[in-house]
Amino acid sequence: MKAVCFWRKNEVRVVDVPDPKILNPHDAIVRVTLTAICGSDLHLYDGYVPTMMKGDILGHEFMGEVVEVGSEVRTLKPGDRVIVPFPIACGRCFYCQQQLWSLCDNTNPNAWMVEAMYGFSGAALFGYSHLYGGYAGGQAEYVRVPFADVSPLKIPDGLSDEQVLFLTDIFPTGYMAAEFCEIKAGDVVAVWGCGPVGQFAVKSARLLGADRVIAIDRFPERLRLAREQSEAETIDYSEVDDVFTALKEMTGGRGPDACIDAVGMEAHGHTIDALYDRVKQTMRLEMDRSHVLRQALHCCRKGGIVSIPGVYAGFIDKVPFGAAFGKGLKLRMGQCHVQRYTRPLLDRIERGEIDPSFVITHRVTLDDAPEMYPVFRDKQDECIKVVMRPS
Ligand code: NAD
Ligand code: ZN
Repeated sequence: MKAVCFWRKNEVRVVDVPDPKILNPHDAIVRVTLTAICGSDLHLYDGYVPTMMKGDILGHEFMGEVVEVGSEVRTLKPGDRVIVPFPIACGRCFYCQQQLWSLCDNTNPNAWMVEAMYGFSGAALFGYSHLYGGYAGGQAEYVRVPFADVSPLKIPDGLSDEQVLFLTDIFPTGYMAAEFCEIKAGDVVAVWGCGPVGQFAVKSARLLGADRVIAIDRFPERLRLAREQSEAETIDYSEVDDVFTALKEMTGGRGPDACIDAVGMEAHGHTIDALYDRVKQTMRLEMDRSHVLRQALHCCRKGGIVSIPGVYAGFIDKVPFGAAFGKGLKLRMGQCHVQRYTRPLLDRIERGEIDPSFVITHRVTLDDAPEMYPVFRDKQDECIKVVMRPS
């Protein structure tokens, strides 16, 4: 089959690889009908996640048709149309039982590597390095789905692939980020990053009743999308003297009630701390550029909540923890527990409350992946979200 493979930093290739096979009686094989490139894939492409190997199949946002199931699979059968959440979960461990799906204890065969870094390992992820299990991803014609009874969600006819694909990751991720903000009537939520995750965080903050949402980015088309789709107010951070003052002025001097960092480890910026991060990251003295996290902690009102869907990988430097402590902030973060949200968010899509396809700007095939990765990374051609069909 055809698959998009990591080749080296800044290079992916479309390669003919062996078809996946059932390896375990709980596996299913899914024929992919639609997949996407995620902001998280850029951390791999840009070479910031260790243990990627030449030939690793990428992709963790995918859906399709079940074509084969293992002998122990009870809930799926060939012909079912499913979306597959990006964290691989066993469904039985202490964490899965508490719906903390992305923290599953059992699915990462390379847990020892993460344990050496973090103390404990979370779930394995599709197509996301050997650190996270080394499972083949879904930017391919077929994919093996382990624990097939646990996570995939069957999709009713009548909804298009484009309407439901993002239930695999970015819609639940943005939604969880907003849910973490414990939004009450009258709340103002600030969202850094108007990429796909930021767009869904903004939209979800609205769905959950935020009075005002302030979206921050520097790409006009991304800011425009947040205004048009979610009635956000916007700040172009490249045009204001400083984001703190802008937010303070927009919130009557108090600061936002909640701040969402939907940017993560590859933040851009023109301030001293952002330059400092860039130098340290280039020299491999630091894994993450935490400029946005610093800003969110600094800007949040006293007693507010900082919610962090943006991915961070390692030890971060010059983070104003004193500010977080001094203001009594509540911090929430982590990989999304996608499985917790797929059913209720599918219901919202079916009720017509949201059509997640609003973020799609580019529709291509797997063969176009080598050209599309840099377009998506560098925000060329007003690219916001890329979906790929097999051919
Ligand atoms: P993206 O690269 O398309 O979007 C990032 C956006 O942040 C860009 O629009 C960029 O211009 C903006 N940005 C950069 N520096 C900024 C700054 N200083 N201030 C304001 N905005 C700034 O990526 P995405 O797909 O939207 O993903 C965003 C983050 O979410 C990534 O770190 C990704 O890994 C992470 N993510 C996390 C989960 C999870 O489960 N927690 C799931 C999916 C993605
Ligand atoms: Zn993703």
